[in-house]
Amino acid sequence: MLNNKGLNVTAFIPVNEPLLDGNEKKYLCECIDSGWISSEGPFVQRLEKEFASRMGRRFGIAVANGSVALDAAVKALDLGPGDEVIMPTFTIISCAAAIVRSGAIPVLVDSEPDTWNMDLRQVEQKITPRTRAVMAVHIFGLPVDMDALLAITEPRGIKVIEDAAQMHGQTVRGRPCGSFGDLSTFSFYPNKHVTTGEGGIIVANDEALAERCRGLRNLCFMPQKRFVHEELGWNFRMSNLQAALGCAQLERLDTFVARKRNMGRRYDELLADVRDIQRPLTSTAWAENIYWVYGLVLDDALPFDAEEAMRRLGAKGIGCRPFFWPMHEQPVFRRMGLFAGESYPVAERMARRGFYLPSGMALTGAQMDRVADMLKEVIAP
Ligand SMILES: *Cc1c(COP(=O)(O)O)cnc(C)c1O
Repeated sequence: MLNNKGLNVTAFIPVNEPLLDGNEKKYLCECIDSGWISSEGPFVQRLEKEFASRMGRRFGIAVANGSVALDAAVKALDLGPGDEVIMPTFTIISCAAAIVRSGAIPVLVDSEPDTWNMDLRQVEQKITPRTRAVMAVHIFGLPVDMDALLAITEPRGIKVIEDAAQMHGQTVRGRPCGSFGDLSTFSFYPNKHVTTGEGGIIVANDEALAERCRGLRNLCFMPQKRFVHEELGWNFRMSNLQAALGCAQLERLDTFVARKRNMGRRYDELLADVRDIQRPLTSTAWAENIYWVYGLVLDDALPFDAEEAMRRLGAKGIGCRPFFWPMHEQPVFRRMGLFAGESYPVAERMARRGFYLPSGMALTGAQMDRVADMLKEVIAP
């Protein structure tokens, strides 16, 4: 079916589609024309410099993705056996995987039911003499109150890794997300506000920590004696092709954030009169939502869960994604004996009742209108 602009309005609406209509093609062609395609090419350093500076940081270390950025950050802070790292149960597996692989112990906290972010009162309660770090994860568009978190961690000498993978361009009381942790990390996956296809970056102010991350990213080659190694690293390098995309995307970050905020407002308006769903908060005292994704949580009054809602929306051509499944309910961790008997009711409910609507950068107003129509048919037929 075509609408009055000749657009096909009944085609499947994917949950994410990136917007690549700036200098992406031009910069990629520069890579190919110059022959610089590996991590040695000039776009990598340019992205590191420009991204770090945009986030108010001295150093940037581009890596292969946002997951390995966390592995490198955990290792660079020397977290390991015997150390406890406090983190939210409601997040992506990458966070817990990095901690578990290092030999350190992940200590979980539940989410706040309104912001969906880690509950800072629980963070304070979970601190023990073995707590070495907190891995703070900003969820879906609203950041953790980093000032409040640092007020807990700093006096106790507890390190902070800030996972800002969903927060490019967001701020906490005017300060950029990604500027708060001892090390902060981002992902450049295609559903993130800045994408390189696959990619990520670590940002830091401390030169020694930054150098450590640089070494870990590149197999811990030594500058003086290349093939002699004092430590084990990884090949987590980013290619010049990826960084070329990143430089083009970064040029438009402000536009992208404004675009996402407009999407959030439009969904809010379209869904304002839909009962029995929890919509994202528009703001907190410290930040205005940037809607990395537009999430919904179904009220208990509805006789079906998120899985069923997504199935019905899928049948109507709307691509949705479930919320995260909590870390304490992951079979892989349960088999390892982690989190036995632990329960985090807010995250458990969000996992079962929550999902997000198409939220990609290329999403059009007409598509959002149709998503809202279909959602209304599914929720209140
Ligand atoms: C996307 C994401 C990651 C992982 O990034 P990848 O680039 O996909 O490895 C880590 N943490 C959070 C919070 C994310 O949203």
